[in-house]
Order: sequence, then C-alpha cells, then structure tokens
Amino acid sequence: MKIAAHPITGEPILLAPERAARPRAFAGDEADDVCPFCPGNESLTPPEVARIERDGRWLVRAFPNKYPAAEHHEVIVESPEHAATFADVPHASEVVRMYAERYAALAARPDVAYVSLFTNDGAMAGASIPHLHSQLLAVPFVPPRIEREAAAFARADDCPLCAMLATHREAGLIVREDNAFAWLVPSGSFMANEQWLVPKRHQNEMTSMTGDEQTALGELLRAATAATKKLAPSMNRLFLNFPNEAAAHWYVDLFPRRTTVAGFELATGTFIEVIEPAETARILRES
Ligand SMILES: [Zn+2]
Ligand SMILES: [Zn+2]
Repeated sequence: MKIAAHPITGEPILLAPERAARPRAFAGDEADDVCPFCPGNESLTPPEVARIERDGRWLVRAFPNKYPAAEHHEVIVESPEHAATFADVPHASEVVRMYAERYAALAARPDVAYVSLFTNDGAMAGASIPHLHSQLLAVPFVPPRIEREAAAFARADDCPLCAMLATHREAGLIVREDNAFAWLVPSGSFMANEQWLVPKRHQNEMTSMTGDEQTALGELLRAATAATKKLAPSMNRLFLNFPNEAAAHWYVDLFPRRTTVAGFELATGTFIEVIEPAETARILRES
C-alpha cells in the first residue's frame, strides 16, 4: 500500500493494486463458492484478533483483511449465519461493543491518525463478500471529509449536532429516539433517504459509549437497517468519529444505495437531493 496525492490539491489517495486480486473485486469475475466468513472456514481468513462467543460458538469475529487497502485494515464478521442482515442479528449490542473495541485498538497505534469504520452491505454498496461484515481502515492521515466536518464543529459557537436534535424534532425529521440516541433524517444530505443516528451525549468518539448506549445503538441500527432494506437491497453504514476535535460530535451516517454517484456530484462535490427529508422520515416511521 502506498499513499498517492491528488496532483492539484494534494489530498491523499490510497494506492492498493493488490486489492484487485480479491474475490469478486470487479463485477463479472468468477465467484468463489466457499464463503471465507462462514463457520468452519475460519482457516481461510488471516488469524483472528478478537471474538465474541456464546455456548462455545462464535457470534462475532475480527481479523486483518486478507487484501488490505492500508497497513491496518480489519474485518469484523457480525454473524455466523451466512444470510443474516443486521436487522436479524440478535446480538447487535455485542457487535457494537466489538466496533468500539477494535476502533480503540487501531486508534491507539502510533502510526495511525484516523480509523474509518464502515459497513458495505450489498453489492451496490461495494461489498465483495455477501456475508455480513464491517471494516476498519486505519490511515496515517486525517481524511478530507473528517477534516472538513471537524473544522466546522470547531468554528461553530454551539455544536450543530446537539442543536439539530431540537430543530429536527420540531420539523418532524426524527424517526425514533430513546434516552441515548436519535434516529433522524438530516435536513440536507448527500444521498436519497439518508439517515443519521446521533448520540444524545456530546462526545467526539464512539469509544465513549457506555454499555447501555451500545445496546441502544445496536437496537437502532437493527431498526434502521430493517427500514432501509425495504427501500433498497444495498446500503452503507458509516461511523464518523473525530478523534482530534473535542468540539465535534460523532454520529452514524446510513443510507440505501438507490443510485450511483453521477457526473455532477463527481464534478463538483455538490450533491442533488431528490427526496424531501420529511418524506423520508414519514416512510421510515411507517415501515
Ligand atoms: Zn458465509
Ligand atoms: Zn454536540
């Protein structure tokens, strides 16, 4: 893996040609019949770094990615069931605990500046293996989106995310909430039917979650995944942490992949929202 730079802005680009060798790296490649993430096939993955077990059977496993895009790139397999979606996972709070633990372990490494935790769920979302899993990609720089949002938090007089909870409640953009988290539709978003899961306690990283908060997030991720699956088979779930900015507020960004990113978005970095946020909130509440 090498880090290249955009020739004009200097923004980092990961160069990982060895990833082209991974199974189903490109549509149309011959599929491998054996799922490396199913129980019984553990020897097909690199050695495990963590697992959660119940009754002598693993529920969640973490191991280094066989085709890394960065020096520290891990996979978390979230269920032993090959066809499970996050909506079916009964041990959701334990998956969230594994997220927080592996995030913290990678973030503590001296050569790591940022750990991106994300889920590519379905082929349209970029998954190359259909068995439910998430990834942690640790990089030696703070990526542009994170830097931009962290700077906006730092500039603001009051935290925009804390403020959103009240304004979005008033505007009918909260789908569901409990004491720990709000599941809401942001009033402006990149993608159709985008949703954010926002912790009510202002913290800049997910490592601050208590056990009760992990349970609440697990439940909300299950509900949001179930509702989003009704809109599209593929989705991304992104965990946005801001380790270097105490003024920032971490959150989960979740959206169905109903269309691909098109020319205007690539040309400008500006997105076109084609669905009213209030309409998305209504659809999700009723699903
Ligand atoms: Zn499998
Ligand atoms: Zn806040």
